[in-house]
This record gives sequence, C-alpha cells and structure tokens, in this order.
Amino acid sequence: MTVHSRAAAEENTPDAPDALPRRDHFINGERVPPADGAYLESVNPTTGAAFYRTARGSAADMDRAVRAAHAAFENPAWRDLSQTRRGRLLRRLGDLIGEKAEPLAHAETLDNGKLLREMRAQMASLPEYYHYYAGLADKIHGDVVPGASRSLLNYTLREPVGVCGAITPWNSPLLLTTTKLAPALAAGNTVVIKPSEHTSASLLDLVELFEEAGFPPGVVNVVTGLGAEAGQALVADPRVRKLSFTGSTATGAQIARACGERFVKATLELGGKSPNIVFPDADVASASMGIVAGIFAAAGQTCVAGSRVLVHRDVYDETVERVVARARTIRIGDPTEPTTELGPLAMASQLAKVEAYVAAGREEGGRVVTGGTRPDTGLGGYFYEPTVFTGTDNGMRVSREEIFGPVASVMPFETEEEAVRLANDTDYGLAAGVWTRDLGRAHRMAAALDAGTVWVNTYRAMAPMSPRSGFKNSGMGVEHGTEAVTEYTRLKSVWINTSDEPQGDPFVLRS
Ligand code: NDP
Repeated sequence: MTVHSRAAAEENTPDAPDALPRRDHFINGERVPPADGAYLESVNPTTGAAFYRTARGSAADMDRAVRAAHAAFENPAWRDLSQTRRGRLLRRLGDLIGEKAEPLAHAETLDNGKLLREMRAQMASLPEYYHYYAGLADKIHGDVVPGASRSLLNYTLREPVGVCGAITPWNSPLLLTTTKLAPALAAGNTVVIKPSEHTSASLLDLVELFEEAGFPPGVVNVVTGLGAEAGQALVADPRVRKLSFTGSTATGAQIARACGERFVKATLELGGKSPNIVFPDADVASASMGIVAGIFAAAGQTCVAGSRVLVHRDVYDETVERVVARARTIRIGDPTEPTTELGPLAMASQLAKVEAYVAAGREEGGRVVTGGTRPDTGLGGYFYEPTVFTGTDNGMRVSREEIFGPVASVMPFETEEEAVRLANDTDYGLAAGVWTRDLGRAHRMAAALDAGTVWVNTYRAMAPMSPRSGFKNSGMGVEHGTEAVTEYTRLKSVWINTSDEPQGDPFVLRS
C-alpha cells in the first residue's frame, strides 16, 4: 500500500479508483463486504500501480468472523467428524490447491513482487503440507499413563483448543498461512486468518476451495485489513484460544503481551539476523553461491536471510570477490519474466527502510562494495540493487537489526571460537549457515550455534516434516513437523477409580 492510496481509501477522495475490483472478507463460507464499507488499495510493487481493493476489516467484521468460527467449532458436522475424515478433507484441499497452483503463484507475484518461479515452487509445495498434516490427523491422541496404584487408571486426551487466530506477513502469504492452517485443522480447530494488508489476493482466491474440499462453512474464515484494526481485534477476542503469528519481532512482542494477559497459547515466528559462516576448508565457489542465495533470493525479504556473512580471513578476499561478481550480474526486473533474478521490494515503505539502513551503514563507517542504490529498471516499482557491505562490525546497526532487503554485511574471523562468538552475538536466533568440508567442525558448529535451524553446505532448505522454531527474539513455539500439531491442542488428564472400595482418607493425596 502506498501512503497516498491508503489516504485515498480512508477519505474516499475523488482519486480513489472505484473501478478497481473489490475483494471482500470470507466469513462462514460467504464473501462478506466490510460492515462500514471501507476498502484499502493493493499495489503491484513492480509498477507501483494499485490493482485491486481489499476490505478494510473492522472490529465488527472480526466479531462476525470469530462468531462464525466459534459456531463452526460447536457444529457436529465438524466437531464430530472422525479424525480420518478430517484428514481426508485436508488431503482433498491439498489436491485442489495443486490444481490451482499456477493462478495462485501469479496472484502472489503481482501482490508482493517475488519471482514468479519462486512463487510457483512455493505453490507446488503447498499440497505436500496439506497431505502431511492429512496423514497426521488420525495420529493425534493421548496416552495411557502408568500409575502407581492398580485401582487408578490415568489417561490423557489431546483435544483441539477451539477458535485459532492466524496472522501472516506479506513475503510468503500462502506458505505461511498453510504452516498454521494445516496443523490447526488437522487437530480439529476452526480458524480466522488475518493476512497482510499488502498481500490478501492469493488467500481470497484460495478460500473457495474449502467448501469444494468438504469443510463446513465457518471452519476457515478470512478478515482482511490492517494489523492495528482487524489484527488487534482478532488478538483481543476472548473466544480466540490460540494465536499463531508470523511477522516482525516488534509486533510479535505486542501479540505475546496480549496473549499473556488472557493466558492464550501463542506460536510466534519472528525476525532474524542470521549468520552465514564460511570456513577456510569450504568449497568457496559453492559457499559464495550459498551467500548469494541467502541474502539476494527474494530480494532479501525472507526471515532467514543470511544477512551477516562471516568469512575466515584466509578465504575472505576470494569470497567477497565471488559474491560481489555474482551480485553485479544479478538480473533485476519484472518478476514474472523467467530470466529475472531479483524483483522489487514489496512496498514503498520497505524500499525506504532499506535505503535508510544503507545510509546508516555508510555513516557508521561501512563500505558499500556493490549496490547501495536504486537501479533504473524503467518499470516504476520499488527496486533496490543487491548490496554488499565490508568494513562493518557486529556492533553496527546494519549488522544487528533486521533490514529485510538485499543487503549483506561481510565480516572476517580468525578462529572457530570467534566465528561462534560473532554468530551468537545477536538478539535473534532463527537460522544459520555453515560452509565447511570438515565433518567434525560441521557437527560442532551445529551444536554451538544459537539458532532454530542450522544448514551445513546449503541454505534455505525446508520441508513440511522438518520443525522450524526461532530462539531468542526470533520467536517461540514450533511450526512444521509433528510438533506443530501439538501447538494447536490442549492436553487433558483423566483419572478413573477402577476399584469398588469406598473413598479412602479424604485428607491425603491419592496416587
Ligand atoms: P509485521 O509484524 O508488520 O506484520 C505481520 C502481520 O501482523 C501483518 O498481517 C500485519 O498487518 C499484522 N499486524 C501488525 N500489527 C499488528 C497488531 N498490533 N496486532 C495484530 N496484528 C498486527 O511484519 P511484516 O508484514 O512487515 O513482515 C515482515 C516480518 O516478518 C519480518 O520481520 C520477518 O522476519 C518476519 N517473518 C518471519 C518469518 C518466520 O518464519 N520466522 C517468515 C517470514 C517473515 P498489516 O501489515 O496488514 O497491517
């Protein structure tokens, strides 16, 4: 969204292009216009032009959606569905998404400017997530707990928590929705999703598949709009018993506080400042491409961006040379073109943020060896050149704060201990890359790094079955894998007295 377009939507000024298609909320299986009739414009970041309007959700819209989700949770058509049948619906949903992958990928590229071939790959992976959680749906169960006494049977029930709220960012809209939605549904919950105001289109295209897959109305609902309005209303609603959020650390902290006030379970996937570490025994050519992948893929707009590049002094010059040479040949342009390697940043404010960080890095004494400016693409959108800083240290803002753009700081180290110290000297703990051919060192580093994911001789690998979690300010809870399902359940302990003996001494604990 541009500031201009948002103001136009707010004030309904004459330049608000009413001709743009309107996209409404999805509540209780129906397209529902916003109660107060307000819409926001969504901008194509490649051109800077608005191309659709999305409902600006209010507290009233959110109340309606949560009410629908609450009723759906109580509805026997969903509540009493066997777990195997629940799994079948998820499997069918995955199949249907697979059939619609191509238009969904286009919708995401138009909304967030990421490469069409990257969004195609993400859309192609979505069915695997639904299929994975479809398979897990009928493997969610409690246990019989061995007790001290033969006359006491103790077992646990793993139950759905109820209405779950999911709040997502703009960089991978459907993938990050899926990592919440699939385990939440597998566990038998109902869901209200608040997507990013900047990228609601693909989810609004996908919702029609829920009914086709066989989900009763109200099991999944979408309210679009601003975080400060629709998002906050979702977080504050007392009927919502679980919140799952992917986004910035600052917003995550606000949501964690609000959840804490109400004792609501929260899963938070937040920001990062991930180290990508090159040892002298590494294949330097391969490591250099890993560095490029870590920071320039998706124009650096990934939570796991390898933005702090730590390189052993022996291979420092060669690595910088290789990374800079590749950065200079990256093809910048229209993300729908198959040959493009770097699209625009997702919005004007993100471009301004990246520019401000590069200026700060220069002021702090960093040297821009390539990039550091907007390229002339002639397209009019929010493009920024792949940028490499040297001469930075771990104390500078460009090395400490998440930029969420194509900006790397390359810093030298001398020893393995120093590499570990520098890598862990950050408020974040999301991911780390290690480049080495020494097997012992690979395992030592994996153990020593304070990050939820460690990649060795690769970067940005992920799969539905592999758990993802952020340490320190990068979040709490787990997404992906079997662990994600437990985040959407509550555990109940049931005790049955199997003896016919009368109740014993009422003043002592039974065990
Ligand atoms: P934000 O935190 O700004 O927003 C994320 C979502 O939260 C949006 O839907 C936003 O709404 C909403 N929101 C904002 N304020 C509130 C609030 N007070 N209450 C409820 N909801 C709110 O993050 P970005 O969208 O800018 O996404 C980028 C961030 O996401 C980066 O920090 C990145 O690291 C992180 N991220 C983390 C990942 C992970 O797995 N760890 C993966 C991908 C991204 P709106 O913007 O529409 O107003």
